[in-house]
Amino acid sequence: MVPVSTRNRRRQRILGPAVSVLACIALVGGCSQVVSGTPTTLGGYSTTEVAGLPASNGPSGPKDGAPESSLPVEGTDNGAMDKLARNAVADIDTYWSETFPKAFPGKRFAPVKRLVSYDSGGPGIQLCGENTTGVVNAFYCRPEDFIAWDRSTLLPELNNSFGPMAVVTVLAHEMGHAVQHRAGTATSNDQVIVLEQQADCFTGAYFRHVAEGSSKYFQVSTGEGLNQVMGVLNFIRDSPGDSDFRDGSAHGSAFDRVTAFQFGFSEGPQRCAKMDFSDVQKRTTLFQAWKPIQKQDTDLPVDQKSLNAVEQSLHTVFRDTGAEPPKIVTELKPCGREQATSPASYCPSTNTISLDIPALQKIAQPPSKSGDTSGYGDFAAYAQVASRYALSVQKAAGLPLDDEAAGLRTACMVGSWSGLLVEDPIGQRNPVGNLRIVPDDIDEGVSALLGADSLIAANVRGDQVPVGFARVEAFRVGVQQGFAPCSTKYGG
Ligand SMILES: [Zn+2]
Repeated sequence: MVPVSTRNRRRQRILGPAVSVLACIALVGGCSQVVSGTPTTLGGYSTTEVAGLPASNGPSGPKDGAPESSLPVEGTDNGAMDKLARNAVADIDTYWSETFPKAFPGKRFAPVKRLVSYDSGGPGIQLCGENTTGVVNAFYCRPEDFIAWDRSTLLPELNNSFGPMAVVTVLAHEMGHAVQHRAGTATSNDQVIVLEQQADCFTGAYFRHVAEGSSKYFQVSTGEGLNQVMGVLNFIRDSPGDSDFRDGSAHGSAFDRVTAFQFGFSEGPQRCAKMDFSDVQKRTTLFQAWKPIQKQDTDLPVDQKSLNAVEQSLHTVFRDTGAEPPKIVTELKPCGREQATSPASYCPSTNTISLDIPALQKIAQPPSKSGDTSGYGDFAAYAQVASRYALSVQKAAGLPLDDEAAGLRTACMVGSWSGLLVEDPIGQRNPVGNLRIVPDDIDEGVSALLGADSLIAANVRGDQVPVGFARVEAFRVGVQQGFAPCSTKYGG
């Protein structure tokens, strides 16, 4: 996050300073408005469902007694990773041979011509015009229509970090590239980011089939299981700010990738086919708005000055709800008989947010490359503060603060605040106040939401909505559509 000063204000606001920030948030699907007055509960959203499927934390991974696929794999060592990959491809093939003719009438799905396993640590072989030595990757080779994977480093690392469904995720993505060429949804002019978004979306479509229980080989729970799959997409994201969505090499931020996966999971392959450059351009967070600023300048410390800036932005964003702004104090205090929630706590009776500054500072540390998740970055810390602020807005509206829907409304409102602090892409937005978020920030929010201990999607007692998919979706809806759906969609 960065404070905006004359030094780093990049351009004049497109709409000029006189235009109310609450007038229009030009995002996906046109403009969403921050409504005046209090939110209402039109309801209808179930917290026990994930895109229409029951929320569950059952087993995820290969099914007991699943058959062994006999698909030929070139170069295989017949080890566990290759068996897993082979079964994954067989299953994904089955899904697409059934789904493809329905999704793309008049077209037929044919499996890829070859499957190739290689050892990135061994003597290289030539694949798709490249030597595989040191290539820790899985890829679809379009000119020769085959899928290849590194069985020695990539697959075991994914399997160890995220479980076997991580391997299935990566192969479903590669098959997604084969699908887009068969369906004709990719054109030769398409930017890499569009192709990648489509492939992630097709991955989501396949995982719905698995989550519905229709896969012969695999099962995935809609709770912890999908959390891990989205964790893989988060892990293999582009580092925002390093590549721009217009670059040839962009694959998408974590936010972009999880968005595409959720579109495919919720709406199926036809939604993926609609993805083109303009669709992606409207919602990507992979932009380079703050490239001239040194990276260290984009992490706000947790101190009084930054807290004031964050508080000010929250006042501004939620002003038109009419809710009385809460007091923010920098010492964690119990609320009557109720214990405080850390790192931030909202007390409805006094309309006060109390903060555990050392705990916030810990969360604000940048995540380390070694995968130590004690810190997520500054945005993740301030989003916890924003989440308690969102509870004060809900209280003013007479909404319950202790049910599961409260957690979803909270995540959505934190998203709407975040979305209003984004200046890019390409100057379409008219951000509020003097605080901006940089591309990394939204991904910090996604990482924290996929973690076990965040308040961003938690009710007043600190109970987090159990299903990660729902947490991320609510946050995403807020970022992309603004405040309005937070109370209508998640009315409880
Ligand atoms: Zn790809």
